Amino acid sequence: MSSPVLRFAPSPNGNLHLGHALSALLTAEWARRLNGRFLLRIEDIDTARTRPEFVEAIFTDLRWLGLEWEEPVLFQSTRFETYARFADRLRARGLLYPCFCSRSDSAARAEGTDPDGAPLYPGTCRHLDQKDAERRLATGEQANWRLDTRRASERVGALAFTMAEPTPLDRPRIRYARPERWGDVVLVRKDTPTSYHLSVVVDDAEQGITHVTRGRDMEAATDIHTLLQALFALPMPNYTFHRLILDDEGRKLSKSRLSQSLSDLRASGWTPDDVRRALGLLSLSG
Ligand code: GLU
Repeated sequence: MSSPVLRFAPSPNGNLHLGHALSALLTAEWARRLNGRFLLRIEDIDTARTRPEFVEAIFTDLRWLGLEWEEPVLFQSTRFETYARFADRLRARGLLYPCFCSRSDSAARAEGTDPDGAPLYPGTCRHLDQKDAERRLATGEQANWRLDTRRASERVGALAFTMAEPTPLDRPRIRYARPERWGDVVLVRKDTPTSYHLSVVVDDAEQGITHVTRGRDMEAATDIHTLLQALFALPMPNYTFHRLILDDEGRKLSKSRLSQSLSDLRASGWTPDDVRRALGLLSLSG
């Protein structure tokens, strides 16, 4: 296997909380034990929600925790052209189609929910006449571009990915991927020429990431990432899904619920060791 490369990849659309601290500290520690590299990637494709002060706060919080990463940091917002080229490859293979439905149209016609509980897109625009769709695009009508997930899965056949804690060496478990349960996901958004799924897969490959470490809430999304890796013939990293940090009502911490941030904790007198202690990581070296 190529030499280990791990990454922490936050989105600068809010302040980091204890859940991010767990992810960053575990990833850095595994990189250290594997004698691997630790990279930081700023996932700032959502230009409407990204703010420079959140990027600065990420650097401040991670340094405060005692983490060091390689420079230069990769900013996804500098890579829209690359993502567009990957999307074009799928378009050329007939695996992406334009979808003109509004969010409320799709929700109203949804057929069940995806693994995140969001309405499952019923595939309405998959059946549009191609000429009609081209005409609408030519008049400047905005579209999301969706992956024809079933057709894409048929092209690549059965998919699986490996899950193991990098150290101490866990017995790897194979998880069969079921991308169909996500339906036809949006890979190129109306407002951004990419999506989380597309850019994360392209950049993990670009940066040679061998071990992806992320929270358990992202395990199901890995089905789509595995499918994209197979379609683009990219290497498949090992995956580790770490535990989530819950609040006192048992809900996972979230930026949108304004869970207490690391900077709030710091301002109220917490030290980096207090963070490690709260996360049950005090035995890890800093
Ligand atoms: N940027 C994502 C987040 O902040 C995580 C990306 C990943 O680990 O794949 O939730």
